[in-house]
Amino acid sequence: MNIVLLGIQGSGKGTVKENISNKLNFEYISTGLLLREEIASNSKLGLQVKDIINRGELVDTRIIMELIFKRIRNNQKPNVVFDGFPRNLAQAKELEKLCELDLIIFLNLKKEDAINRILNRLNCPKCGLTTSVETAKNYICPACGAKLVKRSDDTVEAINKRFEQYFSETYPLIDYYKKQNLLVEVDASLPPNEVAEQVMRAINEHNN
Ligand code: AMP
Repeated sequence: MNIVLLGIQGSGKGTVKENISNKLNFEYISTGLLLREEIASNSKLGLQVKDIINRGELVDTRIIMELIFKRIRNNQKPNVVFDGFPRNLAQAKELEKLCELDLIIFLNLKKEDAINRILNRLNCPKCGLTTSVETAKNYICPACGAKLVKRSDDTVEAINKRFEQYFSETYPLIDYYKKQNLLVEVDASLPPNEVAEQVMRAINEHNN
């Protein structure tokens, strides 16, 4: 079963993954996370994309597809949750060539709420966990113990750029997937456990 988590930056896609991963056996592919890993390891690709990401711009689709391809190339029957991908119609078309999609979960959150969440969020550079200043007051990752940091692209300028690009390029995908009867909408303003429950319900209903 292949699922896409779709939603504005800050809508809690990473948190959903944390809360459903013990209930579902899947490969989690977050393109943002893969790119941050490249940057952290100082790879050639990481150096190439670092400034683009810090400006809040989109990385070239060819690079994104290479990263995804590496992850599911040898997997005959992929069982994947995609996060942060596809970001636009061109990427949606590329994904269709790669695997069949079963469900698109749209985490619906108002822009104002998303801004607040992003400004409060903390990220683990070691294991990729996303949490918030309220939850991890000591700035220590509850999953692996590393020191939490703010993402370097969580600046006001980059956030605005990402929102602009979300509404112009990503948001139209909602209609695109609605027309294919693949979309289920979840209220992402609810507490994380309730969001995860709704997501699990959507997955179970699809499977029945
Ligand atoms: P995210 O972790 O999804 O918020 O992504 C962080 C940043 O990585 C984005 O602002 C983009 O610069 C880049 N990025 C992540 N996913 C994609 C994608 N599918 N296509 C292009 N750029 C991406």
